[in-house]
Amino acid sequence: MARIDLHLHTTYSDGSLPPAEVVALAHQAGVTAMAITDHDIVDGIPHAMEAASKLGIEIVPGVELSSRHNGQELHVLGYFFDWQEPTFQAHLAQQRLSRHVRNPQTIERLHTLGLELSEDEVKAKAGSDSIGRPHIAQVLVDKGYVSHVQEAFDRYLGEGAAAYVPRTLADTHEVITWIRNAGGVPVLAHPTWTRCQGEPLYRLCAHLKEAGLLGLEVFYGTHTRQQTSRYLELAKRLDLLVTGGSDFHGAANPAIQVGRGKGTLKVPAALLEPLRRAAR
Ligand SMILES: [Zn+2]
Ligand SMILES: [Zn+2]
Repeated sequence: MARIDLHLHTTYSDGSLPPAEVVALAHQAGVTAMAITDHDIVDGIPHAMEAASKLGIEIVPGVELSSRHNGQELHVLGYFFDWQEPTFQAHLAQQRLSRHVRNPQTIERLHTLGLELSEDEVKAKAGSDSIGRPHIAQVLVDKGYVSHVQEAFDRYLGEGAAAYVPRTLADTHEVITWIRNAGGVPVLAHPTWTRCQGEPLYRLCAHLKEAGLLGLEVFYGTHTRQQTSRYLELAKRLDLLVTGGSDFHGAANPAIQVGRGKGTLKVPAALLEPLRRAAR
């Protein structure tokens, strides 16, 4: 049975490989359809489409939007939307701007802690318009201030750490509406992030469904078999569409592979058609 991967990052956000290389890895893994879901940016999609057309892989338009809900950061994936729609593109640009405001503040705090790095160095590391903390972390590693990315987050960049600057994020309800208005299917990403399960998670998902959420990311690169079946059950109970993907980032997390996650991931290709039908 064919497999798909609907959660992949490239150099257009915090992944380490350009779209064409991610497509090539997907081809090797036997993936028949895939979505590039870069954070708050869709600019990698045409490049993925070009590479995929030669290999017979379908590219599903995708994106991953950061949002806040009751003080908690939630990620919402969008699929099968009109990625060239100007209003949607303007929302993405606004989202990226909130990172741009945050990055200089983070760098300023690092300066006061005695760590020297410039915004240009971070931009050079990112290589695109979508820059974030992973790129700052990489520069700190390159300069020898920390020995690896995780240490950069633990000591300086993570929530509550010395140089942490909270980001202004759009409300989860808003980002769900943006995706719906662009004709797409909004899906709650990696539900383990919500740090809740059982009835509280049910209530959260029911609430987001009222706001327009249509799917839940049941299959995920790091999910255990138990987590997958629990989320499958939840999606059924709420009549939410089921999606899945590896959340591949490349070198930043080498344990996660395209199409296979930690090795046991297999997102069934049969999930694709219901998703396509739900888009308008
Ligand atoms: Zn995410
Ligand atoms: Zn992701």
